[in-house]
Amino acid sequence: MTDTGHYGFATRAIHAGQDPDPTTGSVIVPIHATSTYAQDGVGGLRGGFEYSRTGNPTRTALEECLAALEGGRHARAFASGMGATDAALRALCRPGDHVVIPNDAYGGTFRLIDKVFGLWGVEHTPVALSDVDAVRAAIRPNTKVVWIETPTNPLLNIADIALLAQVAHSAGARLVVDNTFASPYLQSPLALGADVVLHSTTKYVGGHSDVIGGALVTSDDELDAAFGFLQNGAGAVPGPFDAWLTLRGIKTLELRMEKHSDNAELVAEALQRHPRVQSVIYPGLPEHPGHEVAAKQMRRFGGMVSFTVAGGEEAALRVCSRTRLFTLAESLGGVESLIEHPGKMTHASTAGSLLEVPADLIRISVGIESGDDLVADLVQALDSV
Ligand SMILES: *Cc1c(COP(=O)(O)O)cnc(C)c1O
Repeated sequence: MTDTGHYGFATRAIHAGQDPDPTTGSVIVPIHATSTYAQDGVGGLRGGFEYSRTGNPTRTALEECLAALEGGRHARAFASGMGATDAALRALCRPGDHVVIPNDAYGGTFRLIDKVFGLWGVEHTPVALSDVDAVRAAIRPNTKVVWIETPTNPLLNIADIALLAQVAHSAGARLVVDNTFASPYLQSPLALGADVVLHSTTKYVGGHSDVIGGALVTSDDELDAAFGFLQNGAGAVPGPFDAWLTLRGIKTLELRMEKHSDNAELVAEALQRHPRVQSVIYPGLPEHPGHEVAAKQMRRFGGMVSFTVAGGEEAALRVCSRTRLFTLAESLGGVESLIEHPGKMTHASTAGSLLEVPADLIRISVGIESGDDLVADLVQALDSV
């Protein structure tokens, strides 16, 4: 790999792992659509590749790029964010171990830990990550992982990564940071002491709502070997076209995150001014309880905004169905703006649990369209309910 460590973020995004192809000169990393590789005599591998579950050059390019973006020594790409989550938990936990998780964790992460790992004897405790004493109190002698998201989904709570790394490490546990909402451009958890960074590359990293993927980044050689073992041994790997789409998306990550942040700031301020809006949750607003920590550890505040409306669930559902530019859909992080009702959509599986979300909450993924158009669309939807 070309050493791109001293380059700026955008340079790494465009060049890390992506040298021109040595045999053809192809400037763009080819889609290596092959399951297997010819050997020159038994064991005589030409490029280090033997079978595409184990390794594929397009995937390797993506992995080298992701490692460079997070400032980590290693990255492993998976078929989805959940595939990466599953591999991380299996590498870090055994039956009888315990995990601390956010009390507003991504719904799928909660479901996996509760419904799948629970059956195999891994226990968990949900806590409010902004309350460091509560995190300390939740840690037990068998706690192996403190699993955090920041900003969280969908309530955009902020956790202090450097502080929680100290708390986890002093208890002999590892800190895993799901960095999906911030993206590697806005936040660098490894530099703040995290052991592992997880991405659903489906979101901002890919950025175009056209591919599902996940990744684990670490500077710990042993952990990376465990992740690599599971990548090959359990097989949740992305195909070469998925790896290529993700790599293509990454090239504009810095530009996109800047524009997402510009537009989200504009939208958050406009929502605050609308009489039907009760509260606006955006870490960039000075009154957000996590604003100071976010300002310390994030470059900017990202593209996710949540808000509540007067009139409860009924009104929230109506707003979601009346926007024209904001498409009513799950997911986030693409160039196009999306709107959703977490209680009935992404977080329906948390109903009745500690992780249940407010019924009047709306979450928007602010895209990179013209900011004024996005504001006007939300205002007309709110005016009409
Ligand atoms: C989407 C998401 C995941 C899961 O990723 P998939 O690619 O959908 O499997 C995990 N964490 C967060 C914060 C997410 O938004």
